[in-house]
Amino acid sequence: MSRPAVFFDRDGVVNLSPGAGYVLRWADFHFSPGIVEALAFCRTRGYATVLATSQQGVGKGLMSQATLDDIHARMQVELALHDAAFDGIYACTCLSKDPACTCRKPSAEMLLRAAQEHDLDFSRSFMIGDADRDIEMGMNAGVSVTIRIESENPHLVSATHTLPDTRGLKALLETLL
Ligand SMILES: [Mg+2]
Repeated sequence: MSRPAVFFDRDGVVNLSPGAGYVLRWADFHFSPGIVEALAFCRTRGYATVLATSQQGVGKGLMSQATLDDIHARMQVELALHDAAFDGIYACTCLSKDPACTCRKPSAEMLLRAAQEHDLDFSRSFMIGDADRDIEMGMNAGVSVTIRIESENPHLVSATHTLPDTRGLKALLETLL
């Protein structure tokens, strides 16, 4: 039987936003407050946790795929210490202007791949992001609930729920999952 999932954007949700730039090395990756507890909670409720991130810095040549993979491997090691590691990690590393790219948000392609590989049920799933394209990606995949972490980015797309930051995420999830 397929499982429900919680899908997470990375920068600005799992880790503090690097602003206009990119996290190019592990030393610059800082978990957002409360996110480890929120991830662990999802797992205790039987939800798969999936990371879906845009990392155009690879496409731009600012970091290699190996460096991105290394950052994610170290992230998983830290999360595993708290039973909070992701079940799946998906990254679109294409340039935003690449006409051949089919995976860039708000395309649902990363979520569809995750659903195939992990047998996930979108109708019982959640999307958490800090940008319109995250919320739209979740909606395009057919997730039932979207949660926006508010950021400086102006937004036009309404999410089901909005939080000022990640501190209250676990408390909100406790009411929803
Ligand atoms: Mg983000």
